[in-house]
Amino acid sequence: VNHYLLRFIETGRDVQRKKQPRDLASQLPGARLEAFPGRLLVTSDGDALPILSSLHGLSSFSPCIPCAIQDLETAVLTLDLSGARSFAVKVKRFGEHPFSSLEMARRLAAVLISRWHLRVDLVTPDVVVGVEIRDQRAWVFDRVYAGVDRRGTPPDLSGTSRFYADQMLGRLAAWLRMLGYDTAYAWDIPDSELVRRANAEGRIVLTRDRPLSKNRAAHVFYVEARRVEQQVREVMIALDLRFSRSQLFQRCAVCNAPLHSVDKAAVAGRVPPSAYAIHDRFAECKRCDKIYWAGGHYRRVLAALSDLITE
Ligand SMILES: [Zn+2]
Repeated sequence: VNHYLLRFIETGRDVQRKKQPRDLASQLPGARLEAFPGRLLVTSDGDALPILSSLHGLSSFSPCIPCAIQDLETAVLTLDLSGARSFAVKVKRFGEHPFSSLEMARRLAAVLISRWHLRVDLVTPDVVVGVEIRDQRAWVFDRVYAGVDRRGTPPDLSGTSRFYADQMLGRLAAWLRMLGYDTAYAWDIPDSELVRRANAEGRIVLTRDRPLSKNRAAHVFYVEARRVEQQVREVMIALDLRFSRSQLFQRCAVCNAPLHSVDKAAVAGRVPPSAYAIHDRFAECKRCDKIYWAGGHYRRVLAALSDLITE
């Protein structure tokens, strides 16, 4: 018996929500279906992967192991993680529980580390062990397949240099901000919400997540490179962005707020004496009180992009 967790595009339309399970049932004879908000659990005697892979309207799906919460530690141990060197556990929880998602993720990560001798890597893990908990039930999976059809029309963002970086691209977000690009950063929000916000704010989504990169309802750019220097180059070349030095000191690398230039005298005592001695231009983030100047970090960023700079 095989189990699959199906994720729907969250249209918010009742009609769609009721129609999808019916469509699916007619294509998977004999399968048992159980609907949850935004999810459908399919139990099938045969291999349903080929049918699910061609089914329209799914955002993604995963073969999964269903279990009770108290059996989660046993369930994650049935995953074969032998090819991986690093991993992350991501827990999504619906309902009331005496533990937080983070506590559960840590507990399961400890179990997996003792079995597979893996290292935790929250940014670019080889494997993501996903856990969904709904009330007293839970599902474990380590593979996420993209659905085929992303309905919707992305906004026309040609010529835009405003971005929404996904959770895995925090360093890229900081670099883009240093270069003056207005870059929001998504931390711990569902893809559907990220897409909604990006469209509402006219931002191009930057991601290293394959299922999200196939989302046709938003303007999404899939970032291939793993090193941040190459990621910035990739984005700038693909979107035909040219950087001019006048863009420096416009955005806070930490929070994306606009920076304000500030008199040298006003930053005395707030920056290291060595920086104060050799720099004359300073800028300040009023939101996080951070002071910026063209120090070593800026030089490294600019050196990596020297051929993309126009004066
Ligand atoms: Zn700031």
